[in-house]
Amino acid sequence: METRVIALAGLPNVGKSTVFNRLTGLRQHTGNWTGKTVASARGSFETPRRRCLLVDVPGAYSLSARSAEEQVARDFLLSDEAEAILLVCDAGLLERNLFYALQVLALGKPVLLCVNLMDEARRRGLSLDLPLLSERLGVPVIGLSARKRSSRRLLLDAIDRLFDEPQAERPLPPLPPEGEDRRAQDLRTAALVRGAEAICRSVVRGDPASPAREARIDRIVTGRRLAFPLMLALLALIFYLTVAGANVPSAFLSRWLFALEAPLRRLLTRAQLPAFAAAMLTEGAWRTLSWVVSVMLPPMAIFFPLFTLLEDLGYLPRVAYNLDLPFQRCGACGKQCLTMAMGFGCNAAGVTGCRIIDSGRERLLAILTNSFVPCNGRFPLLIALITMFFAGIGASPLLSSALLTGVVAGSVLLSFAATKLLSSTLLRGESSSYVLELPPYRRPQFGQILLRSLLDRTLKVLGRAAAVAAPAGAALWLLANTQPGGESTLARCAALLDGAGRFFGMDGAILLAFLLGLPANETVLPILLMTYTAQGSLSDPGALADVRAILLANGWTRLTAACVLSFTVLHWPCSTTLLTVKKETGSWGWTALAALLPTAFGLLLCALLAHVIP
Ligand code: GDP
Repeated sequence: METRVIALAGLPNVGKSTVFNRLTGLRQHTGNWTGKTVASARGSFETPRRRCLLVDVPGAYSLSARSAEEQVARDFLLSDEAEAILLVCDAGLLERNLFYALQVLALGKPVLLCVNLMDEARRRGLSLDLPLLSERLGVPVIGLSARKRSSRRLLLDAIDRLFDEPQAERPLPPLPPEGEDRRAQDLRTAALVRGAEAICRSVVRGDPASPAREARIDRIVTGRRLAFPLMLALLALIFYLTVAGANVPSAFLSRWLFALEAPLRRLLTRAQLPAFAAAMLTEGAWRTLSWVVSVMLPPMAIFFPLFTLLEDLGYLPRVAYNLDLPFQRCGACGKQCLTMAMGFGCNAAGVTGCRIIDSGRERLLAILTNSFVPCNGRFPLLIALITMFFAGIGASPLLSSALLTGVVAGSVLLSFAATKLLSSTLLRGESSSYVLELPPYRRPQFGQILLRSLLDRTLKVLGRAAAVAAPAGAALWLLANTQPGGESTLARCAALLDGAGRFFGMDGAILLAFLLGLPANETVLPILLMTYTAQGSLSDPGALADVRAILLANGWTRLTAACVLSFTVLHWPCSTTLLTVKKETGSWGWTALAALLPTAFGLLLCALLAHVIP
């Protein structure tokens, strides 16, 4: 069977990813913000008559190739590889979509126009004359609700017909050659706008303006008075649900995983492993792994779906809108808000996400300051510190989540400060403008959200942490149990760092734990406990009261906890993030700065806490 290559094009947020997943069966993450899909995803599928390769080109507003995304989209659509174009439009915003569609049609390739989101348009009282639209444009048109399973059959048949039937004459002029002068370009743009308007008027019945209810909600969530309190309240609510919901499953998992250690050890011994190797694998690797899984899995399994829910609802672009001005004031691009939000999940993902920022200077600003917000790997430690030393063990999670919200808000403020510092020194320049579209609010798909956030995010992050935690646990066990001259290597290194640690309100063991935690932030607390407890392996992490007792016995005070809390938020990013920075910037210099900048802020804050404030 022949394979035909089809480009999937359209404005951002019209359901392209949904169509892509519907056809190829691959799960692709669908984000709600402008230009999220920067690299183009590929996937194959079969119609009754042929094999097809679908290439998802970045969502763009026009083919003028002003931004990197538009350039990518234009290049691919014009290339010989793309044999046909599947163009997705939003039925509720037909005019704006047609402006883009008319440019795509002018490329002269076979086009199948999918007018998507028909269900939403119908709900809003709109009706569209699709046969007339097809006649006016000279291409086949189908109406679609891509969320519905039945839409797949409709698409497959229409794609077959597109290749089987000869193309009709197009009533539109072809694309002029490149290098056309500015005035002719402007004239053509004006003609396209008028054309889109005229077609839309004849095809759409009903008022396409966004419904009054939506506008009312937007006035509140992006309004001057309530926008910021609402954002903080939502953040606090998410943290509350995460903290309150994670306790029970965490304790359950930890009991369960730790109970498996003894059978595992028996198994290893029966397999004739030397005693020290069996101890290293169980007390080192398995215990650290159990710790990381039981501490991280429950909060992530709650936090990520909640976060995805807000994204799916259409709230995240509103957050970006609210934070646009502060970012502009810092000389950065408003889109940095979105990459920062990704950073809460994973800084490495946040750094890669910075590709959505077009200007190189602004992209660097976003990359270098991404790890100022704590990633998911740091949250468990933050929550544990807050619970043990500030809110109180057994106290209502309400207080812990309020304090955590404060810490996170502080980290956002400091990331503004760092951005401002960079943009007025090393990376000077004006901030550029961009189009941020506020998509309509949509009813979220709960099943999809659970699946996507559990598989795509939770398991991926957990898998990576576990892959690091198990070998790190084994290595640490060795360090803790090799005792030249009676003192373990871990204890010796801690003693070396003690002076520096105490100057910053911590101690040598804490600094060492942060240093050794470079591969994964999740391992900082387990390493610390391993260093403190003389037995050279982790104790049961289930009971925070025990952890608190160990820390108090090693001289911890509230001040120590405050310094560790600050340093947890502000220190070098994990090695995966650093390697990602190297990959994205291509420079070890910028990579070093990405590590040094938050560390300098963190050390400064700790020194202030330790010496000035008391
Ligand atoms: P993309 O940015 O073009 O890739 O758009 P997505 O595929 O991410 O879709 C944006 C949002 O629209 C998501 O919340 C989808 O679930 C939703 N969506 C997509 N197609 C439909 C549809 O036919 N009906 C409804 N009601 N929602 C849809």
